[in-house]
Amino acid sequence: MTTPPTSPRRPPKTADDYVEGVLAGDRAALGRAITLVESRAERHHALAQEVLTRLLPHAGKAHRIGISGVPGVGKSTFIETFGTNLTKAGHKVAVLAVDPTSSRSGGSILGDKTRMAKLAADENAFIRPSPTQGHLGGVNRVTRETMLVCEAAGFDVVLVETVGTGQSETEVADMTDFFLVLMLPGAGDELQGVKKGILELADLVAVNKCDVDERKARGAKRDYENALHIMTPASPNWRPPVITISGISNIGLDVLWDKIVEHRAVLTESGELPAKRRGQLRHWMWALVRDRLVHALEVHPNVADRLPAIEAAVADGSLPPTRGAEELLAAFGLTDRN
Ligand code: GDP
Repeated sequence: MTTPPTSPRRPPKTADDYVEGVLAGDRAALGRAITLVESRAERHHALAQEVLTRLLPHAGKAHRIGISGVPGVGKSTFIETFGTNLTKAGHKVAVLAVDPTSSRSGGSILGDKTRMAKLAADENAFIRPSPTQGHLGGVNRVTRETMLVCEAAGFDVVLVETVGTGQSETEVADMTDFFLVLMLPGAGDELQGVKKGILELADLVAVNKCDVDERKARGAKRDYENALHIMTPASPNWRPPVITISGISNIGLDVLWDKIVEHRAVLTESGELPAKRRGQLRHWMWALVRDRLVHALEVHPNVADRLPAIEAAVADGSLPPTRGAEELLAAFGLTDRN
């Protein structure tokens, strides 16, 4: 049998092309679909929305796992080993990143493939670096939509990595099922510096690099257990465990995966997981509405004209912020009456 001559691959033009390519698990199509949803161009907006709407029924089955920790804690090393364990066990793993610092001003670029070379070459893994800032609706919107596209393409584990800055951690926790916090060993003093907020988000704390000094890692584990003990857990059915791991030496990562699976079973059984996801969808919708409204306001010609003067007057104290807000809203056409 002769094979027909292959025609040069043409880029997808229609929603059908995108949707079929993604559902078939075609990596090139997946990449293009993500590029489409990342696009800031107004002309891509309607097509992107149609593609997403059609992919949505095929999404939602993945384990959505947020991963946080300060730079240097070992996130990329951990994801490389953990992701490889999972693909070996038959999973398909997508790695996304939310890094509000990865703008043109520089800063770290999370999800950079060179940081996870082995996983990047794994055919059952897909790594997407953090989108740059300045998107309509922000990095947050893009990452959520990218997650859905990956799920529709058959990825059953999505790891969303973020740096240890408050806002991005909250955003990632609000788009995932399970929030993993990586910590460094180092007792007492170090714990003082840990923001309480991050522990409140954690579904599990993993003390990383336990290969270096096991005793120290165990000490840190106890400290975090004590710190968590005096906090009210977010879920009545899940007390966040603390474990010691080593990303580099592949220690404890099996225990970690078991905990993730257990967490899903417990929260599914109690109805919390579906409720959490429903809440996340509602929040997401309102975040989009807020983003669009603020954008519409900022680009409104009346507002754009007056904005610099009003901002300057508020900043130098000559105009109270309440009056400034009123003037901007009035320039946009909003008054007390509407
Ligand atoms: P990230 O900034 O959080 O992504 O951290 P990296 O994964 O880039 O790791 C930072 C440094 O810690 C690198 O030099 C890694 O080789 C090292 N490292 C990461 N994980 C481990 C670990 O489990 N044990 C040890 N000993 N070193 C590690």
